[in-house]
Amino acid sequence: MPWARVGDNAATYPPLLSVAGVKGADERTVNEVAGFVFRCAWQVAAHTTDYVIDIGTVQMIGGARWSELVKLAERVKLLERTRVNGLLAWRLVEKDDFIHIRTVAEMEWNNRQRNDTRDPRLMVPIRQRDGDQCRWCRIVVVWSGPSNNRSATVDHLVPGEAATVDTAVIACWECNHARNDDRSGKWEAEHAVFPPPVKPLYGSATVKYLFENAGVVVEQNIGRPRKTVERASDPDTARTTQPHGASPVRPGGAATAPATDPLAGAPPGESSRVVHDSPSDEFELAGSGRVGSDSGSDGLGSDGLGSDGLGRSRRRGRRGSGR
Ligand SMILES: [Zn+2]
Repeated sequence: MPWARVGDNAATYPPLLSVAGVKGADERTVNEVAGFVFRCAWQVAAHTTDYVIDIGTVQMIGGARWSELVKLAERVKLLERTRVNGLLAWRLVEKDDFIHIRTVAEMEWNNRQRNDTRDPRLMVPIRQRDGDQCRWCRIVVVWSGPSNNRSATVDHLVPGEAATVDTAVIACWECNHARNDDRSGKWEAEHAVFPPPVKPLYGSATVKYLFENAGVVVEQNIGRPRKTVERASDPDTARTTQPHGASPVRPGGAATAPATDPLAGAPPGESSRVVHDSPSDEFELAGSGRVGSDSGSDGLGSDGLGSDGLGRSRRRGRRGSGR
């Protein structure tokens, strides 16, 4: 899906404000040029022309003033004259803090990533190998629920190329996006991918995914059932049941396990008042010391793809997604 994103500070983007300094212009001219350029950007996005706008569109948007507006925009370098198939055209400035427009290449890359994350032939061996930990920071990731820094993504180690089992790793949203958003390369220079865990951590979502997609049986070794407090006025129904397949085994590879054992059962004294739901319900997760949820869905997270699966900027031609 094409879109244009306007930076938070676009209204005060220095080149735009500099329009007011042109002889004969004032703050009204700034607004006029801004409106002209933003409308051009939306047209570019809608027609996925990769920042290029033809003269017909410029004339349509600029109306009787198109020539003056183009000259002003060129002067402050918001537009750059070019040619397409021999015809006069303009290229919009490509600055993320002003306007970012998804290009055809980005959309194709995002589609590639999405297809990769939906391919069990790829995802089964990756999830079986990496378990539910980020290969960059080893935090436990979650596969469903509201997007947050711990949401599971698939990080393409070679941006722009379709993933293979060897070139894709499980990553938390935070690491995936930090790597993408740092265009200086500093983040990547300071981080290295951890080797695959010797004893992967498997939450209920991955246990279910591996079994349903490949018949692979792994032991759930992370998480514990959610505690549901029953109504005090209904003591007869209070009970404790054990979830199917939930094995309270401390994971050997949980180097970052918190001091208190998050895999232990309910605290003493609560057993008569709680119900352990099925593995498909919310779990408390071990490994990070933080508590999250794991609904047991076999959904594939966001692939760093944002709320719609494609949401954040990325560098090297993969803006909007994990790579
Ligand atoms: Zn991470």
